[in-house]
Amino acid sequence: MSYDVIELTQNLVKIQSVSRDSNAAVSDYIQTVLEEIGCVIERLEYVDDNGERKVNLIGKLGEGSGGLAFCSHSDTVPGQEEDWAAFDPVMKDGRLYGRGSCDMKGPLAATIIAAGRIDASQLKQPIYIVVTSDEEIGLLGAKYVADHSATLRDDKPTYGIIAEPTSMVPVYAHKGGVHVKVTSHGIAAHSSTDKGTSANFQLARFMAEMADLRDLAMRDKTFMNDEFNPPTNGFNMTMTDFGTPGNVTAPRAQCVVGFRGMPNSGAEEMLDMITSAAEKYGFEYEVSAHTPLYVSTDSDLVQAAVRALNGRSPETVPYGTDGIYLQAVIPEMVVLGPGDIGVAHTVGEYVPLSELTQAVDVYEQIIRDLCF
Ligand SMILES: [Zn+2]
Repeated sequence: MSYDVIELTQNLVKIQSVSRDSNAAVSDYIQTVLEEIGCVIERLEYVDDNGERKVNLIGKLGEGSGGLAFCSHSDTVPGQEEDWAAFDPVMKDGRLYGRGSCDMKGPLAATIIAAGRIDASQLKQPIYIVVTSDEEIGLLGAKYVADHSATLRDDKPTYGIIAEPTSMVPVYAHKGGVHVKVTSHGIAAHSSTDKGTSANFQLARFMAEMADLRDLAMRDKTFMNDEFNPPTNGFNMTMTDFGTPGNVTAPRAQCVVGFRGMPNSGAEEMLDMITSAAEKYGFEYEVSAHTPLYVSTDSDLVQAAVRALNGRSPETVPYGTDGIYLQAVIPEMVVLGPGDIGVAHTVGEYVPLSELTQAVDVYEQIIRDLCF
């Protein structure tokens, strides 16, 4: 390969791929690089709700089935270019600055360079580079890949590494996500006439119960898991009456109650309490639930990561990843990547150069450990 991980990261940062736009240009470039290191490519495209073309790539290196998949996303949050040169990467003080340098074009570059060091003819199990779209706006690409990728369905990778920034700490679990959208219907009328029924007052009684439930979630150990920091489930609620003016009784009001479920943290009981309350008031509701990511710390994958990191003990994180959907096709996954999640999405996002180069070595060692 004619370039290193730093150059590849710079090249990726320069090709804008904010989630609201198409990621076709950056995907074309990634595909070229993957082909250059010998990958066979499966390319999955869809058109998003705004008519933008979205591209997902699965590159496979080596023959056969099983093996190890490296998973990244190619979209980024908006650049906020008015505040800095987001798409013009700069190296300074041992850091590479630019939108996506940390989340997660730098980590993606490290997985590609590591795969590029491997002689495919020596692999006993294949490796895969999975690159999704629309991660930052609801993991839409990962869902599409889990539902449509023939490569992942037929070849069944055994292990996955989600290369999101963890400051090179191996992460064996993250929280899931449960959302309940509750809608109350009223009758619109001028508020001076007493002829209307306000959906807001109906919903307010339910919302008061949710406020009590939040207090319960914050104090009752049944709903916590001390493996996580914080151990609580992030119980939250948002609401709207769709901009009803002050002199109208609201015809419709909606709130979304959500929490981040963890294993052994009463998630089903909590969901049941929310839906039972909605049913009691006769409200419409819709549930969407994502299971948390969780793999035993004794698994071969976690142990391989720990070995490659000289015994660094595995941890958990509170944020979600593409693993929420990809675990349907890749049974055991960890999160491990260069960069600090604390600078992701900020003006001045950066990845430390030392972690970028360390990541390449660590990924290479894990490949040699699991696939040779
Ligand atoms: Zn990310």
